[in-house]
Amino acid sequence: MTGDPAEAALRAGRWVKWIAGASNQDLAAIEDLAGLYALAGVHCLDVAADPAVVAAARRGMDWAQARGARRPWLMVSLSDGQDPHFRKAWFAPERCPPTCPRPCERVCPALAIGLSATGRPGVLPERCYGCGRCLPACPLGLIEERDQVLDADAVAPLLQALQPDALELHTQPGRQLAFAERLAQVAASGLRLRRLAVSAGAEVSLAELWQRFAALRRCGHRPLWQLDGRPMSGDVGDGTARAAVTLLSHRRHGMPPGPLQLAGGTNGRSLSQLRRSPQLERACAGVAFGGVARRQLQPLLREAQARGQRLLEAQDLWPEALALARNLVAPWLERS
Ligand code: SF4
Ligand code: SF4
Repeated sequence: MTGDPAEAALRAGRWVKWIAGASNQDLAAIEDLAGLYALAGVHCLDVAADPAVVAAARRGMDWAQARGARRPWLMVSLSDGQDPHFRKAWFAPERCPPTCPRPCERVCPALAIGLSATGRPGVLPERCYGCGRCLPACPLGLIEERDQVLDADAVAPLLQALQPDALELHTQPGRQLAFAERLAQVAASGLRLRRLAVSAGAEVSLAELWQRFAALRRCGHRPLWQLDGRPMSGDVGDGTARAAVTLLSHRRHGMPPGPLQLAGGTNGRSLSQLRRSPQLERACAGVAFGGVARRQLQPLLREAQARGQRLLEAQDLWPEALALARNLVAPWLERS
């Protein structure tokens, strides 16, 4: 494992992961973004545990590899129970008054509320990644959330089919038993994983993280701790960037062994927030970018779409797209 550039990046604090979203099934955008962020040099692509999504991400990786990129790890995400990352919004459009100014549509960062292929307005499930912004936006309270948690029996065959390099398990307080059960289901797949990432927010105590660590070690996994500072925040501005760094400052003493990676609210301001403390800089193995990574390429995705093309087909848009992707990830890839 020592020759693996991703492991070397974790040791050097230069690890960068791109997060597509645990519920995101927007295949065209996933392929485009996977390709561009792989070419920009990220070490890992973290996508939904869904065969079509994984296939799209692998096509993006193939595109990047054909242009000289190192192939990143493919990570898929699961949860040990209900979790905001594993849900989708839903409403019955026929209940909406025709005069409604559709605030739900305006607040959706994924453009997931609009006309479907059948011409009916509503949530486009493949695009919805469960951020929850639309839920309070509806004045009539018509929007509900629907969980997307995988059944126990489905885990092993799904992982055997997907063959990821790494896995991420989202956990919440009080779920040590559910976490251990998920690990047993993962073990039944027979997969050998390079890392098993645990995504947890501030509400999961250190004592519980040590319990998770013990369960991981019993199964022979090498942990990677994803510090989920402000999940589903939209990743905008200093405030969200600070949340993950603050969580690192609270967690760096007393954490179980394993690299500590920022996520949840991370953006282009995260590194400057981290650099306010040399101790925190040293403690940080890297970063994951989700919403911000998509948002900055969204105009180009839409421009390609308006031409009836994918971004990976619109060669004239590549320089700008790649410059934007590199602008986000290069400061981390190059940090000393
Ligand atoms: S606002 Fe968030 S939860 Fe609502 S449809 Fe859009 S992506 Fe889904
Ligand atoms: S805000 Fe509510 S009523 Fe209006 S379109 Fe959206 S879901 Fe329908």
